[in-house]
Amino acid sequence: MTRMSENNLWQATVAETFNAESLIEDLEVDFVIIGGGFTGCTAAIEARKQGMSVCLLEANNIGFGGSGRNVGLVNAGLWTPPDDVMSILGPEAGEKLNKALSNGPSQVFKLIEEFDIKCEATRNGTLHCAHSPKGFTDLENRFAQQEKRDAPVELLSAEEAAILTGASGVFGALLDRRAGTVQPLAYARGLARAAQQLGAKIYENSPAIYTSFENGLWSVKTTRGTVKASYLLNATNAYMQGNIEHYSSSFTPVYYFQFATKPLDDALLKVILPEKHGCWDTATVMSSFRRDAAGRLIMGSIGSLEKMGKGVHTSWIKRKLHKLFPQLKDTEFEYSWHGRIAMTDDHLPRLIQMGNSGISMMGYNGRGISPGTCMGTAIAKYFAHKDLSVLPIHPMASYLQSFNSIKEVYYETGASLTHMVKDY
Ligand SMILES: Cc1cc2nc3c(=O)[nH]c(=O)nc-3n(C[C@H](O)[C@H](O)[C@H](O)COP(=O)(O)OP(=O)(O)OC[C@H]3O[C@@H](n4cnc5c(N)ncnc54)[C@H](O)[C@@H]3O)c2cc1C
Repeated sequence: MTRMSENNLWQATVAETFNAESLIEDLEVDFVIIGGGFTGCTAAIEARKQGMSVCLLEANNIGFGGSGRNVGLVNAGLWTPPDDVMSILGPEAGEKLNKALSNGPSQVFKLIEEFDIKCEATRNGTLHCAHSPKGFTDLENRFAQQEKRDAPVELLSAEEAAILTGASGVFGALLDRRAGTVQPLAYARGLARAAQQLGAKIYENSPAIYTSFENGLWSVKTTRGTVKASYLLNATNAYMQGNIEHYSSSFTPVYYFQFATKPLDDALLKVILPEKHGCWDTATVMSSFRRDAAGRLIMGSIGSLEKMGKGVHTSWIKRKLHKLFPQLKDTEFEYSWHGRIAMTDDHLPRLIQMGNSGISMMGYNGRGISPGTCMGTAIAKYFAHKDLSVLPIHPMASYLQSFNSIKEVYYETGASLTHMVKDY
């Protein structure tokens, strides 16, 4: 059985269990889903609600990809501000996507409640923190864009942000009350459990190794079985392995690492993120910090722990901890892990049409908890009703961007150099 190799906190503290057999037979269903993260599992839930028979194939274990490795910030919308989304997609398509994803956190927390998913769900809002005066100007712009859309956001001064974060060096923050945090692996496993309870057939350790489309049916082969289906969703995003017929898409792989301390004592928890907000910042080489339910502090930033920058990132995170929370100077980290993000050139996600009855979803650009939940749900509705208008983004025939390997090196080198030269 394939396991995550790193020391991933979410693996160590996950309260939801989920185990499934490998596929060892031939099946025919309405809808086959490849990939068991948020996108695939929410599609499976919605498809069962719509009365379709469903089979989900996961190459490893549920949550093996980004869904079991991320920060757990359940944010509304995309990282790209809503006016920019409209400039890129056009006013109508842009506003449709903005509206759909603005409701994303509500969809996530509703599913958690509906299926009693034990995933440390906390809906107190998240804080986008200014790392500099220029960062605060960026937040003012984001605040104006959200305010005109009646979003429940507040722009906080440096003093107000200092009280809510307990951190030094924060130049103000944008509080978004729609948002919150989860234990992401538990959310993914809980979704898989819910889908299974609703009657979806889920198989782990069952990589799709070959897909084809003939006589109106998809055929997906694993090493020991085959699934035939009328509709197919490729929900493998940044973790795709193998080739999938009619799939024409590419992205830049970018890595993001995290470190977690041991649980902090009660006195520290009264001042460090006392209201348990999840935080990320305005820096180009972004960083994040949050607490888990046991009171560990989890911090992260862009970079891989398997490439040359590992030592640089590890030494930077210690300086960053000291800078933000001087009282944690001697605190050791107990967990460290990283994950891969699928970046697109304009930072917007893509739906790729695969013939008339297949869809691929990719490119969440590090913002996939709410968007993945919205998109998985919408794709299942689309196949159930054959109604394109239920999709938040219009599918395209292909999405190919150039120089992805060069851009990958650029991101990793940029993050390493920043972490090397910045004293925090
Ligand atoms: C470190 C990190 C931090 C992040 N932080 C946040 C955050 O705070 N908030 C947020 O909203 N988003 C965040 N993201 C983004 C978010 O995690 C992803 O966008 C989201 O998990 C994507 O979900 P998914 O279901 O589309 O894909 P994944 O969760 O990656 O699932 C894809 C699955 O497909 C499987 N697979 C691949 N190939 C095959 C095959 N041939 N056959 C069968 N199965 C296959 C993989 O094993 C994997 O389990 C972060 C991502 C990372 C990596």
